[in-house]
Amino acid sequence: MLARPGLPDFDYMKAESAQDVFRLLKERGDEVKLLMGGTDLFVQMRDRNESVGILLDLKHLPGIKDISYDKKKGINIGAAVTLNQLSAHPDVKDHFQILSQSADTIGNYQVRNRATLGGNICNASPSADMAPAALVLEGEVFLSGPDGERMMALDQFWEGPGKTALKEYEFLAAVHFPNPPSGAVGRYLKLGRSKMGDLAIVGVAVLGYPDSEVPAGIRFRIGINSTAPTVYRVPQVEEFLAQAPLSDDILRQAAGEAMKVSAPIEDVRATALYQKKMVNNLTFKGLKEVWNQLVIS
Ligand SMILES: Cc1cc2nc3c(=O)[nH]c(=O)nc-3n(C[C@H](O)[C@H](O)[C@H](O)COP(=O)(O)OP(=O)(O)OC[C@H]3O[C@@H](n4cnc5c(N)ncnc54)[C@H](O)[C@@H]3O)c2cc1C
Repeated sequence: MLARPGLPDFDYMKAESAQDVFRLLKERGDEVKLLMGGTDLFVQMRDRNESVGILLDLKHLPGIKDISYDKKKGINIGAAVTLNQLSAHPDVKDHFQILSQSADTIGNYQVRNRATLGGNICNASPSADMAPAALVLEGEVFLSGPDGERMMALDQFWEGPGKTALKEYEFLAAVHFPNPPSGAVGRYLKLGRSKMGDLAIVGVAVLGYPDSEVPAGIRFRIGINSTAPTVYRVPQVEEFLAQAPLSDDILRQAAGEAMKVSAPIEDVRATALYQKKMVNNLTFKGLKEVWNQLVIS
């Protein structure tokens, strides 16, 4: 007998327009689950954590796989853009490099061929690897619903493990990232159990950029995953770093503060204490690498 029974039966439907999505969600919302690459969803269905009658595929909606860059406004990335497409796209690599770096840490090449940015964001896992970079880039989501489209800052979108601010009948259409401040440098550091593709024990994204208005001359943004119910920034630590001339000691203190804020829970991947210590280590390492790069360039 199989250790796991495999996938339950389901119907597959392909949405050709946003109206198709709203109609089916209104008519049969209780049975419908929205599908992108399925790399989270199929696992949840196999493990019977999701009961699904109909999988409604959004990948064929007009524009949902598009990436468009504007020098003034930033970049819009369709929810169905895969992580491999994201990682290789020239505008992403040139202007939003920390997104490429983050995408490259996810699973393996085959998973990244299916997995999408939208799926990673909507799954709302506290360990989602795209989330720390998306937060430090101050991303916003375009949510499409029967009454039109609305935008929301990503830090408002995640409400808890697996919970988002999506309303009934809505779906994520795209993610917008404004251009990072001039001269910005980003780094995503992830600790997993193996290099062959594993969820993060801890992941830390650091974005730094010159700012002559603050005593440090540099501002940092820090995003952290896996150590709270949602991925989060640490504004108090960011402010502390802006207010003092930078040194190794200041970076260490900042990393220590980030560790204090983190609130991991014991899980199969690591103890809470280990995760806290890794927040400290990765935050220091990320700050140091970004600082060095900013000082050299
Ligand atoms: C072997 C393996 C390794 C993995 N490694 C990692 C890893 O290292 N890091 C990591 O972060 N993740 C990892 N994952 C998880 C997964 O690959 C990613 O989270 C991926 O980005 C999910 O995207 P997807 O397109 O497959 O989403 P799907 O599985 O299709 O969808 C995920 C969820 O979001 C909902 N959803 C999807 N799109 C929308 C939308 N447009 N609007 C509203 N709701 C929507 C779905 O209904 C579902 O609940 C791994 C998965 C596997 C199988």
